[in-house]
Amino acid sequence: MAKVTAKLRVGNAVIEGQGETQKELFENLADTAAIFTVTRCGMCQSQAIAPEHRITGEGGKFHYYSWRCVDCGGELHLGQKMDGVTLYLKTKEPANTRGWSKYQANRGGDPGASDAPGWDQP
Ligand SMILES: [Zn+2]
Repeated sequence: MAKVTAKLRVGNAVIEGQGETQKELFENLADTAAIFTVTRCGMCQSQAIAPEHRITGEGGKFHYYSWRCVDCGGELHLGQKMDGVTLYLKTKEPANTRGWSKYQANRGGDPGASDAPGWDQP
């Protein structure tokens, strides 16, 4: 079966996908578009947001992915699907910011990543 490839420009992102079928290509493009088309912070509306990747735990076994607002420190966590390779945005809570929140050290930890010791980790 022929391999299908497509490159889309969506906002600031250029998304490239491949698949053995049109459905597979579309699914790959959709999964990627879903996380790379975040354009602004849900708390302060700044467009200065950057992807963040943190590794914690013994032997670096926990990986945390999020979008971080450079201006206000807000963060949008990404979850990992069971397939082990696909990420998704955690946009349900809090609903008023579409998932964006700020870490508060005195609140007993980050609700989105309970194993994370804190933001000052490398
Ligand atoms: Zn912000």
